[in-house]
Amino acid sequence: MATSTKRKTKTASQSTKKDAVVKRGGSRRPTTTRQIISFKDRTIPISVFGNVMKQFDAAAAKLKLDGDLLDFIKVPRRSTIMNLPVKMDDGSHRMFEAYRVQHSIARGPAKGGIRYHPGVTLDEVQALASWMTWKCAVVNIPFGGGKGGIVCDPQALSIGELERLTRRYAADMIDLFGPDSDVPAPDVGTGPQVMAWFMDTYSMRHNHPVPGVVTGKPPTLGGSRGRVEATGRGVVLCVREAARHLGLHPSQCTASVQGFGNVGSISAKLLHEMGVKVTHVSDVNGALYNPDGLDITALLDFVGQHKTIVGFKGGKVIKPADVLNAKVDILVPAALENQITEKNAGRIRAKIIAEGANGPTTPEADAILDKHGVFVVPDILANAGGVTVSYFEWVQNRVGYFWTEEEVNRRLEEKMVLAFNDVLRTCKKYKVNMRIAAFILAITRVVEVVQLRGIHA
Ligand code: NAD
Repeated sequence: MATSTKRKTKTASQSTKKDAVVKRGGSRRPTTTRQIISFKDRTIPISVFGNVMKQFDAAAAKLKLDGDLLDFIKVPRRSTIMNLPVKMDDGSHRMFEAYRVQHSIARGPAKGGIRYHPGVTLDEVQALASWMTWKCAVVNIPFGGGKGGIVCDPQALSIGELERLTRRYAADMIDLFGPDSDVPAPDVGTGPQVMAWFMDTYSMRHNHPVPGVVTGKPPTLGGSRGRVEATGRGVVLCVREAARHLGLHPSQCTASVQGFGNVGSISAKLLHEMGVKVTHVSDVNGALYNPDGLDITALLDFVGQHKTIVGFKGGKVIKPADVLNAKVDILVPAALENQITEKNAGRIRAKIIAEGANGPTTPEADAILDKHGVFVVPDILANAGGVTVSYFEWVQNRVGYFWTEEEVNRRLEEKMVLAFNDVLRTCKKYKVNMRIAAFILAITRVVEVVQLRGIHA
């Protein structure tokens, strides 16, 4: 939610009826959520957690591991669902469905963001929690995986409603959280302000400040310098390493970025600074193209004011699908899951895909991209910069001593380059693609810890 600070004061009760099927949580669930594909007269959900299971199974098949052990590390340890009553500005109360999933605590506290979105489901949160386990293992930081979500449309809530919703979530699930047990962070629809409310609610219950209970806080509250940019910075470091591996020069490359929120906008900015010509971008409202390269600095200013790329004069309006199909060297999907499926994977022309988003590519699409020789830097590597700097934030909070932005960025680069090369080496050793290699590396690291600790009877 990095680009959105000004909110509409409209409450959910004023939402239009045409997109509503389920009235819940101050918003209405759209008839076509991004996880549902229409097929004749039926709707078939693409299970995001099912996608993770397939990725896990493909990697596990390459390792000679005990089946019981694999079962133990594969599924979430704990999934919590609550209905949160929240007082709205008009005096009414609404129920919001909320989730927290702790997929693994084998390597350390559960770690993962909280998503505010009308389409959040338990399936999605379980998938995101699971990816967090593997992501933390790929970059070798001492965390397990967790994720949370609230079914709501944050844009349709006032600041006061958002604050009360956040505090209710933190308070009602307080026993789950703690610097040593489960540490949330921002995700889609949440940002530093939500983390500040979360930290305050937790701290009030413990009668002293506990900054390490969440990461992604504003720097004045113990947030790390460089955290807001960290995920996009990690994506671009992976693009740089992938380009080097493929013998491409960034200054001769073009790029297309889907999603212009925290991850997408920072990725576009840093690609631009690296000399890449960013020709295509999109957000939920529309898409833009400029063959000479979009003026990313001007676009960022525009989005800062208007909260969308729509209306920016420095590019031609195009269809959102053209952002994924663009004839570019680098594609950065940085929006949501299931964007590259078997339906459009064959039309992708990029040489490198760096997954800023979690789960943008389905396993079926992966097979097509493999066949076409596209080099995919998978989400659990490409977007791991965010959780890496979250880890740095947690370390700084525990020590009470803060690093400069240069220090944060230097350590981030070190971790990302090491992880990229670890995955590339695994890729060559097992003769698999980068995604399966990243899973192999992560599973191996988690298994090693579980075997040392043993499974408590
Ligand atoms: P955000 O809310 O800041 O931005 C999301 C962007 O995606 C917005 O610009 C929105 O308009 C756009 N969008 C939504 N649906 C779209 C669509 N159908 N087509 C095009 N654009 C669309 O969220 P974010 O923090 O940038 O997260 C984006 C993705 O990156 C998510 O998958 C998230 O889980 C992942 N991620 C985020 C972080 C982080 O630190 N924020 C870390 C790792 C992974």
